[in-house]
Amino acid sequence: MDGRQSRQEEVARGAIILLISVGIALLIVGARFGAQRFTAPPPTSTPIPSATPLPTPTATPEPPTPTPLPQPPTPTPVPAPVAGVDELYARDGRNIVCIDPGHGGEDLGNVLVRDGEIVLREKDFTLEHSLLLAERLREQGYEVVLTRESDTEVNPANEDVNGDGVVAEPGSPALTTQLDDLQARVNICNLASADLLVSVHYNGAENEFLQGYEVWYNGDRPFSGRSQTFANLIQQALGNAYAEAGYDANDRGIGLADHVVTGPERPGELVPSEMPGAVIEGLFLSNEEDAAFIERDDSADAVVGAYEEAINAYFDVYPG
Ligand SMILES: [Zn+2]
Repeated sequence: MDGRQSRQEEVARGAIILLISVGIALLIVGARFGAQRFTAPPPTSTPIPSATPLPTPTATPEPPTPTPLPQPPTPTPVPAPVAGVDELYARDGRNIVCIDPGHGGEDLGNVLVRDGEIVLREKDFTLEHSLLLAERLREQGYEVVLTRESDTEVNPANEDVNGDGVVAEPGSPALTTQLDDLQARVNICNLASADLLVSVHYNGAENEFLQGYEVWYNGDRPFSGRSQTFANLIQQALGNAYAEAGYDANDRGIGLADHVVTGPERPGELVPSEMPGAVIEGLFLSNEEDAAFIERDDSADAVVGAYEEAINAYFDVYPG
């Protein structure tokens, strides 16, 4: 081989090496670009400027309200016992009722006059109904004290029971209507530590057209709320009883009054009753329609049943 030939061979070899080098370089660069294509992070998206404020996001919709279950009927609310008053009544488990049959003896109470003759007397009905009421209450477990159990005055000896120096004239009808008689009734209820005083009466008036039933209590006692509760109960029960017996009696309502036996105190004249109570005027004896009902054979049962129901309802709220 000569020098020129080997020179040509050298050039050719160099060209091949160059070509191979360039090829390798191209392969490397290509491989890099290819790799970049698959591994480079995605281009960051340019945030779109919010030209208008975004709408307020809608609140998460509420789950559908379940259909409410039918409620039981609301029970009739009963008056809440008054704390201050309740402290006056230590419960001893004894339900003690003091029944006061109005009038008696020489005091006839209200009357019905026919042809100039007295044919109906309040004192008889108050006693009859009170005795029947006492019997029924005792059967139910009540302790009952009566201010009288026969046709007599409560202060027959005409003593100065209230200590005011005044007594009735002997033989006077005022014997049972003056304060000594009423104080004697109150004393019986107080001595018995009664929980409730029930004063049983029938009404009367010169105006023979007046008719109906009414209940009175005193609003100035510490326990007036309890008295009011009982007054409401007995007024309601009487109305129901008359209606059930077929008599459309006139509801004259409930009144506030000082009827002596229900207090309040009269300094020097009356030591008041120490328990809630009411004076009940059943119907007007002086009215022919009312009297006709009172005379009926079933009236005692109806009226006494109403008293019984009201007393039971009262002690349900205020047990003794
Ligand atoms: Zn009376």
